[in-house]
Amino acid sequence: MATINKNFEKLPGSYLFSTIAKKVREFEEANPNAEIIRLGIGDVTKPLAPSVIKALNSAVDEMSKEETFKGYAPDLGYAFLREKIAMYDYKDRGCNISADEIFVSDGAKCDCSNIQEIFGIDNTIGVCDPVYPVYVDSMAGRTGLYNSDTMRFDKVIYMPCNAENNFVPELPGKAPDLIYLCFPNNPTGAVISKDELQKWVDYANENNSVILYDAAYEVYISEENVPHSIYECDGARTCAIEFRSFSKTAGFTGLRLGFTVVPKDLVLDGVALHGLWARRHGTKYNGAPYIVQRAGEAIYSEQGRREIKEQIGYYMNNAKIILEGVKDAGFTAYGGVNAPYIWLRTPDNMTSWEFFDFLLDKANVVGTPGVGFGPEGEGYYRLTAFGNREKTIEAMTRIKEAR
Ligand SMILES: *Cc1c(COP(=O)(O)O)cnc(C)c1O
Repeated sequence: MATINKNFEKLPGSYLFSTIAKKVREFEEANPNAEIIRLGIGDVTKPLAPSVIKALNSAVDEMSKEETFKGYAPDLGYAFLREKIAMYDYKDRGCNISADEIFVSDGAKCDCSNIQEIFGIDNTIGVCDPVYPVYVDSMAGRTGLYNSDTMRFDKVIYMPCNAENNFVPELPGKAPDLIYLCFPNNPTGAVISKDELQKWVDYANENNSVILYDAAYEVYISEENVPHSIYECDGARTCAIEFRSFSKTAGFTGLRLGFTVVPKDLVLDGVALHGLWARRHGTKYNGAPYIVQRAGEAIYSEQGRREIKEQIGYYMNNAKIILEGVKDAGFTAYGGVNAPYIWLRTPDNMTSWEFFDFLLDKANVVGTPGVGFGPEGEGYYRLTAFGNREKTIEAMTRIKEAR
């Protein structure tokens, strides 16, 4: 008799975004004239850069002729893209990562959950709280049971991140086998300093743990001494895997492109993880599309880099408007400097959901309740900088009036 993978039944419902959608829908029905501004989106809104469009068009043309047509891409990615990544994202930042340690894929979301397939089923997992839910919702069976009262999986090691620790977790007393870190962070917008990240690298090497480092928002870093890659730290080649994405970097959320770095020095039980991931990747994946990899390559040209910088500048200007706006309105707020997320403390001891209702009702503004990312997010609220400039400004005016 066929049975199902019971791990799916342990997953909590996707309660957060469906509840938000329902509340907004009900509000719209009751207030048909209200003009709602959405600052909850975790998706880019600007069109693809001209250089990217140009590369796409010319790659499509190549596909139309027998002489230049491309079939299956190499499993691990085309050399033209892997070499650019190695050069611009790593060598130029002083990181010793070679092109053949880069695995091109269709995005970081899949990679950061699929990576669990190469580790033992009894490995423990440590995650930040609040957290991007993908790391624990990977259905591989390591997380134990989900308890809807505590909003936690019983086998996951949660590392609280709050204002007291600047949203950077403390090293756990008992080391998790796998440690997910994400900086700049979604949802808090926090970053980790190079010295602090070095402590995590040392800790992982001492305890034979592996750090799974999600650097999807690397391009938003504006301050000095904030590491762009975990490989800026000494010893990271023996304990860390890094995930990157073209989604937030260059607006590829609809195109799909990302990559994972597995250094050859990362060895467990005498086996190099590089080979394991190559095997896994090659077995279950037939490579990101040629036209998309050409589009990805285009962001490394001089013109492409300029265009991407301008796009990021647009979003980060929104972030500044939001951060200053909510501070002017008397809120305590974090993030927004090295990440497109602003994480604000709800006022007057309101819960995250009470504040959601308050902002919807009084300002017709929609964000995301912090508690939706984990219990430690209770009392916080996330606003994103991916919206339109005028609407972002208007939202700040309304929030100030609502206060
Ligand atoms: C958006 C996001 C990603 C990117 O995922 P893709 O699959 O590449 O679009 C990865 N990690 C975090 C934390 C994100 O917010």
